Amino acid sequence: MPELPVVEVVRKSLHKNIKQKKIKKVIIRNRNLRIKIPVNFKSFLIGQKVIKIDRFSKYLILHLSNNSYCLVHLGMSGTIHLINHNKKNNLTNTSFYHSPILPPKHNHIEIIFKNFRIIYNDPRRFGFFQIIKNLNLLKKRFRHLGPEPFQSKFNLEYVFSFFKGKEKNIKNYLLDQKFVSGIGNIYANEILFLSKINPNKKVHLLKKNDCEKIINISKKVLMNAIKKGGSSIKDFKNLSGKNGSFQKNFKVYERKGLSCKRFKCEGVIQKKVISNRSTFFCNICQK
Ligand SMILES: [Zn+2]
Repeated sequence: MPELPVVEVVRKSLHKNIKQKKIKKVIIRNRNLRIKIPVNFKSFLIGQKVIKIDRFSKYLILHLSNNSYCLVHLGMSGTIHLINHNKKNNLTNTSFYHSPILPPKHNHIEIIFKNFRIIYNDPRRFGFFQIIKNLNLLKKRFRHLGPEPFQSKFNLEYVFSFFKGKEKNIKNYLLDQKFVSGIGNIYANEILFLSKINPNKKVHLLKKNDCEKIINISKKVLMNAIKKGGSSIKDFKNLSGKNGSFQKNFKVYERKGLSCKRFKCEGVIQKKVISNRSTFFCNICQK
């Protein structure tokens, strides 16, 4: 599943390429994404300029020249490819996630500009496009989501008071989008390892100091992934279509049975299912 850093890499790439560009044509090959593409989707987009591309959590937000928005969510397996019309570009994927070149199948939507086109590929079709008519509706759309780790609202006061009296474990809350937006399973595991906190720990038992660690490390882990993701795009050829090189840097994720990477820790990485997600942690240094 593309996590927040992947979506941010896509955002940057799209922003660089389609900002201030006018949509000439739209091709829809399959309307049946997670949310059905509405019949007026084409006519709504054609002729609009894309002013800029923002992101909130894992949602891409295309600002259009008529003051409306087009949301794009990559779901479980979505990728966006950029194809130049004039010069051949072999590496078309706008992120380091999945195939670096355009796959032959599952290309559901094409948005065509003057010199290039962007193509939405999604084998599992859990992603979606959605037109949002104005800023008020956009705000409403995200009202149910908690702050991103990068936002100033995600601070000690917010986190500590949110956890007061709550019985569920910390892993559960890091994945709860009502508490914090955009932390997926991979990064929740990494954040807890770096914070030295056991994923099973009930949140009301966390000290202020623990909460502070979680806040700072969440920002750091996601920022690092964005940086590495960005730079791994040019290494695509060496990766033979596999995941970005940043994955080798995981401390606990997918490391079941291997020794702990923390200096002088003799622990072994465990794997357990917590709130229905694979959870990896060190049996010694995460308390
Ligand atoms: Zn350890």
